[in-house]
Amino acid sequence: MSTSDILIEVKNLEVLFPIRKKKLFSSEVRQLRAVDGVSFDIKRGETVGLVGESGSGKTTVGRAILRAIDPTGGDVVFHTNGNDVDLARVEGEELRKFRQHMNMVFSEGPVQLSTLAADRLRLFRSKMSLVFQDPYSSLNPRMTVRDIIAEPLIASGMMKDRDAIDARVREIAGRCKLNLEHLRRFPHAFSGGQRQRICIARALVSRPDFVVCDESVSALDVSIQAEIVNLLKDLQEEMGVAFLFIAHDLSVVAQMSHRVAVMYVGKFVEYAPTEKLFFEPKHPYTHALLSAIPQADPDADFNPIRLEGEIPNPLDAPSGCRFHSRCPFARERCASEVPEWREVASEHFVACHFTEEFEFSRPNRNTKN
Ligand code: SF4
Repeated sequence: MSTSDILIEVKNLEVLFPIRKKKLFSSEVRQLRAVDGVSFDIKRGETVGLVGESGSGKTTVGRAILRAIDPTGGDVVFHTNGNDVDLARVEGEELRKFRQHMNMVFSEGPVQLSTLAADRLRLFRSKMSLVFQDPYSSLNPRMTVRDIIAEPLIASGMMKDRDAIDARVREIAGRCKLNLEHLRRFPHAFSGGQRQRICIARALVSRPDFVVCDESVSALDVSIQAEIVNLLKDLQEEMGVAFLFIAHDLSVVAQMSHRVAVMYVGKFVEYAPTEKLFFEPKHPYTHALLSAIPQADPDADFNPIRLEGEIPNPLDAPSGCRFHSRCPFARERCASEVPEWREVASEHFVACHFTEEFEFSRPNRNTKN
């Protein structure tokens, strides 16, 4: 893929949450730096995996890109291509109205999402979507499967004609391997795997260019996980949608992703193509995470690196390199100087002062071909 294939550019993204601490006669407001200066890009039709321990800020990055929460700094640029807009999404009168919207939004080239007014942002939301972790709580128990899947089309104003909506719902339900008979039923009648298929159908019904999958397979059994991962890969090939795949299971991320980013206390520490990151990690934290992946072979050596201490609280993030309090290779400079985010090999970005001195490797494992 070339750089012209870039769909989303995240530039120096920052999300701060004010935390008010009450004192005896006053109160103090401190800033929790959930995401602190994160920069990366996502190409069309690509899956970017995002991994890290709980509390590292993965979910906040996904939601800030979707503008489900407002970033406090930086920018998210959605690269549109006027000629590529899929006008097959809508028909008739809706097509005319949609074209008006498209002209309004796309005539300007790249769009800075932070500058969009609410109505234009609503339109853009039809191009981006989200699959949640919990397929039980993310479906309204009082709505039929048909109405759940149709909701984004109606909410975004993309379609109003009932027959056209039904046709689109049946099409995406079939692609997600849902039985069309099930469209009249309510969510309680389905297993976890079927519910997650409904969630995926809902996320893809508006033919988005970009979907955030936030721990979307973490709550499922292993065999169902494999089914859902295969379904997502098939849908990506058919529809060309890009995914930000947030997960803590590195094996699943390796199966799913073209590139992988590793996050620690609100910052990216490494970002590289999947093969490079898994076989030639360049950051001590990535190396420690990879060493902890269990192996299927009971005779194989398994020596996970044990990091001392807990992941730091982002309210009291360590100075310098945030990993220095747990890094086995930390030196004096690490505690005082923030490591630069730099490209150390083609498409391989790392934030570590001494990465050139390390030669990490790991045994052969299955990753995406
Ligand atoms: Fe470890 Fe220092 Fe590199 Fe941070 S900058 S990862 S503390 S060696």
